[in-house]
Amino acid sequence: MWTRGISMEESREQLEFDVLFVGGGPANLAGAIHLMNMAQKAGREIEVCLVEKAESIGSHSLSGAILDPLALKELMPDYLDKGCPIEERQCRDEFYYLTPGGKFKVPYTPRYMHNDGCHIISLSKYCLWLGEQAEELGVMVFPGFAGSEVLYDEDGKRIIGIRTGDKGIDKDGNKRPNFEPGVDLMAKVTVFGEGSKGSLIREVGKKLGIFDGKMPQVFETAIKEVIEIPESNSFPSPDTTVLHTFGHPLGLGTKGGGFLYKMKDNRVALGFVVGLEYEDPFLEPYQAFLSFKKHPLIAGIIQGGKVLQQGAKTLPAGGFYTMPKLAVDGAVFVGDSASTLNIQRLKGVHTAMKSGMLAAETIMTALEKEDFTSQTLDQYQQKVADSWIHKELYAARNFGQALSKKGFGKFITIGAQYISGGRGFVDPMPIHADSATLTELSNLSANPPESPDTQDLDGKLYLDKLTGLYLSGTSHEENQPCHLVIPNPDLCMTECYDKYRSPCTRFCPAQVYELEQDDNGSKRLKLNPSNCLHCKTCEIKDPYNNIIWTCPEGGGGPKYSIV
Ligand code: SF4
Repeated sequence: MWTRGISMEESREQLEFDVLFVGGGPANLAGAIHLMNMAQKAGREIEVCLVEKAESIGSHSLSGAILDPLALKELMPDYLDKGCPIEERQCRDEFYYLTPGGKFKVPYTPRYMHNDGCHIISLSKYCLWLGEQAEELGVMVFPGFAGSEVLYDEDGKRIIGIRTGDKGIDKDGNKRPNFEPGVDLMAKVTVFGEGSKGSLIREVGKKLGIFDGKMPQVFETAIKEVIEIPESNSFPSPDTTVLHTFGHPLGLGTKGGGFLYKMKDNRVALGFVVGLEYEDPFLEPYQAFLSFKKHPLIAGIIQGGKVLQQGAKTLPAGGFYTMPKLAVDGAVFVGDSASTLNIQRLKGVHTAMKSGMLAAETIMTALEKEDFTSQTLDQYQQKVADSWIHKELYAARNFGQALSKKGFGKFITIGAQYISGGRGFVDPMPIHADSATLTELSNLSANPPESPDTQDLDGKLYLDKLTGLYLSGTSHEENQPCHLVIPNPDLCMTECYDKYRSPCTRFCPAQVYELEQDDNGSKRLKLNPSNCLHCKTCEIKDPYNNIIWTCPEGGGGPKYSIV
């Protein structure tokens, strides 16, 4: 543990705003834009600030991403005239079941999988553009500032803002010459839109119980690349712009699948998603991603190509039954922080944006009434319940659980849900925490593999983890406290290695965790925190809940620009 670098005698700057948005993803950006538009219409001047831990807006944003423009049209009907960056206007889907060497085109695509009217985008470019729109409207946008803690009033019940992390603390907790204390950002309302598995909302959950009585939050890890392909390469049908797959390499026992989307300039977005409730401790999402790329259907489309950018992130897959309480005194929760992603449609940008906009409408009422208690802010919960977000998420309330079923039973369950408006055979279907699902080695039906799963790589189209990491642009200040806190390091070698063979060395897509052996043959876990892609898989999947992800110094992390 390191001690905070600022002493009691030193002053910490305090800045006050009407509204503070924490996180620069689509939910908060849409919320900030909507709020400024409403304030302008009402002739009211408000001070609105948005902070983001990435070096610039969009550089930690990664998703599929197919955008249903439903919320965007409500927010900005003239988005095309305003230069919204769109890779492909039309989505025409194909859906395949993959066997190790073959494919089967699914003849019927369920209505929720249709992407008619949707656009293919790069989320990093899209967020950058939304950030520019917000700034033009007067939002003070501060990238490079990581939230380190939530600030409460004296009673500890009302949120009054956040503290940003100190910059310039060395590995041992001492000040470096460039030390800059964090700032207290105070606001009448704080909007938490930190994205998947936020570190501040985790602490709010412990203190104010916003997740109490809900099903456990569950997640999927996605690894994605943007690949430049030769002009002559094409999708199976010339009109197709979107491919979704399931089956190989996970089979039907583990939730997950792949996607390939057409982008501008002979580029494609290729990704693979693994549900983190998987049981096999030897499963490695990165290797599954490579196996998917090497399937003949995919390999044929990308052959001769070159990876331009790679990244990874988790997405909240629990949906309706895992949504937290959406408002407390002084704060509201939006987007992935509020579990608004629709796993049935494999989309979350539109629901995230709409949640931010509904939060903004509630905040506008709170500003008019000068009442920032949960009594007023709870209207946001009601607005979500009355909106199309609720309609979508309620219809999909048991879908993720059905996908988690093994074998063909999942299709029968999905079919039953399809004809019963999402109810199926059991409602609600149970959800199990991702950290609790790994099978112990002693209970495995097959012997553990003798050597790690590796594949032929060429350093251009098929990359190892470190080359992929290089293409994510990830960098951190090396001389800072480790942001991956392991409360009980002894557990790693005394329990976790014996029971699960240190699965963190496999589920982390960035080779942050490695096993080392000393001269006496003793093993220990070595951490490379500078590699971290901020995906949060480790905090979610660690079987002992023995990894706590905290924000490193602001500005560190990936530098996505096209994923
Ligand atoms: Fe993701 Fe954790 Fe690895 Fe960072 S250390 S890349 S958060 S799994």
